[in-house]
Amino acid sequence: MMKLYMDVGGTTIRTELHTYDTVVHETYVSCDHELYDLIGSLLKRYPGILFIGIAYAGMIHHGCIITAPNIEVKIHDLKQKTEQLYGIRVEIENDVNCAVLAEAHDHTSGDIVALYVGTGLGCGVVSDGRLLHGHDSLAAEIGHIPYKSTPFHCGCGKDNCIELYASGSGLLKWKQYHNLKGQPDLSQLRHSDKQIERDIAERFEKALLSAAGTMVTLFNPETLVLGGGIVSANPYLVEIVTEQIQAYALPEAAKRVTVVQTRLKDAPL
Ligand SMILES: [Zn+2]
Repeated sequence: MMKLYMDVGGTTIRTELHTYDTVVHETYVSCDHELYDLIGSLLKRYPGILFIGIAYAGMIHHGCIITAPNIEVKIHDLKQKTEQLYGIRVEIENDVNCAVLAEAHDHTSGDIVALYVGTGLGCGVVSDGRLLHGHDSLAAEIGHIPYKSTPFHCGCGKDNCIELYASGSGLLKWKQYHNLKGQPDLSQLRHSDKQIERDIAERFEKALLSAAGTMVTLFNPETLVLGGGIVSANPYLVEIVTEQIQAYALPEAAKRVTVVQTRLKDAPL
């Protein structure tokens, strides 16, 4: 049986097609593709697909996309529509929830928090061996806790989310706000000769520390895994969190947690 796995983020859609003996990887630019159409074209190209697993950068409840701060959602009942039209099984889950399950398996830990920094700031929690969902599958959305007010809005509608400081979309918004040219690249900002750019990078680090410290204080994990595109491009963030977590979390919980960078290349997949 052919299986298609998709990691749908704010910037890219990555796919893994598992056939009997091969795995085919592909990457698409998110804004160029409506997900439902992309699935349709892939099913046409590979008619043997009988299962699709989707890791989605948004809030998912009972297989439905409720909202996605960094993706324009056109079809909320994607699972149901695809299953009905094509007669195949589709499972969809929040991407960082998928990632934390893979991390829990990788670290053989039942108490683990995954903090993924990419376009958004995503978080997943496995506590006492169980994935934390919350009543409406909205638990652990650390990116949207109130932090400091901003002169622009988050994808969720508020103007004080921590994600506006510690994420790729946040960096972009700060650059646009200050009329700064170039890509929102943390490493470039950090080493910039402009004070304002170095300030954006420094605020990013502080916000990430606050988010990490909050999760460690609330969930007392054995392991805190950092991942996502911005962490893999800036592994120094793992050192900063390891060295400074003590100042941002309950000291006893901070002392016991192990902070690591993800070892998995495609944890959500
Ligand atoms: Zn928000």
